[in-house]
Formats: sequence, structure tokens, C-alpha cells
Amino acid sequence: MDSSSPKNVKVALQNKVTRKEAEKAVETLIKWAGDDPEREGLRDTPKRVINAYEEFFSGYKESAEKYLSKTFEDVQGYQDMVMLKDIPFNSHCEHHMVPIIGIAHIAYIPVKKVVGISKLARTVEIFARRLQTQETMTQQIATSINNAMKPKGVAVFIKAIHQCMTTRGVEKPNVSTITNTFLGDFKTNNDLQSQFLNYISNA
Ligand SMILES: [Zn+2]
Repeated sequence: MDSSSPKNVKVALQNKVTRKEAEKAVETLIKWAGDDPEREGLRDTPKRVINAYEEFFSGYKESAEKYLSKTFEDVQGYQDMVMLKDIPFNSHCEHHMVPIIGIAHIAYIPVKKVVGISKLARTVEIFARRLQTQETMTQQIATSINNAMKPKGVAVFIKAIHQCMTTRGVEKPNVSTITNTFLGDFKTNNDLQSQFLNYISNA
């Protein structure tokens, strides 16, 4: 399911809980874990956890397509691949709410207009700061660039470590997950796809 769809955002807003209620929930989890939320070291923990969660999940309040709509055209007719490599991100898996730590690479082929490079990094951040699966996030990044800029092609490649796999469950510390989405020319042109993948490993 596409968690960026307006319908879901609306549901999230309708279910808005107060900060107090959220802190209370953390207190409950502390008790459930077997500790005393009243002891000194834990007294401010619910507040701190919710402060952290405000950052981790700030992406729900932002629209990537809004950022990507600020384009400029004065690039002397540049029409080849624009790539932003090694964009680090932290996200949280939607199944366990545990960190996903990874690196994204994005490329697109502009049609007349380009976008400020920092906006691509921002796009990764907006989708990372939500509850995610890596597959969904990869697709959302590609689709939002595609929708906002209507380029000839978009490529997104993500490599990440899921702490729900490395620190619990099957506990495989060195496992990483790779996902990619190719749209437009990147999907149909193998040379272009190879060039993109080559830049990831060599450039
Ligand atoms: Zn998980």
C-alpha cells in the first residue's frame, strides 16, 4: 500500500493523538519491559522518546513534490544524467519500528528543467522519516521525482541494513538489502542502466 497517498495521510491526521497520550504510551512500554518509569534515569524518558519520534517521523508533514516543483532551466541545454550518490538516511521499518540505516543513489535525465541537488537529498529524507518498507520507499522516491519533474527517466538504488534483522529475529549482522526502481529511459535503455550502476560502484 502506498503510505504517501492522500487518503492515508488523511487517516493519520484524523487519528492524531496528543503529545501527552504518546508519552503515556512510552511509560506503559517501560513498565511492560519491567522497569520503573519513576526512577531518576527514566523520569524524562517518555518526553525524550517522543522528541526523538518527532524527528524520526517528521516526513508525514512534508511533501516531496512540493520541494521538487522548484526547478530551474538555465543549464545551457544540459540533457544528460544528473546523479546524486551516497545519500545517507535513517528510516524505521513499519513492521517493528526499528531503524533501517542505508544509502540511496538517485539519477534522472532532465527535460529542460533541473532541480536543486539538495532537493533530491531532501526527497530521500521526507520518505525516510516515515514508517517504511525499503521497497515502498524506493518506489515513492522514484515516483515523486517522476511526477514532479516529468524527466526522461529516473533511477533509484537503495542499500540498507534493517536492524530488525541484524539485532533481533534471525540476527544476521552483515546482511544488507538492495532495492532499485527504474522508470522511463532507465527502464528501457540497458546502457543507461549500466552507466548508473557503474557510477554507483566506481565514480
Ligand atoms: Zn522490521
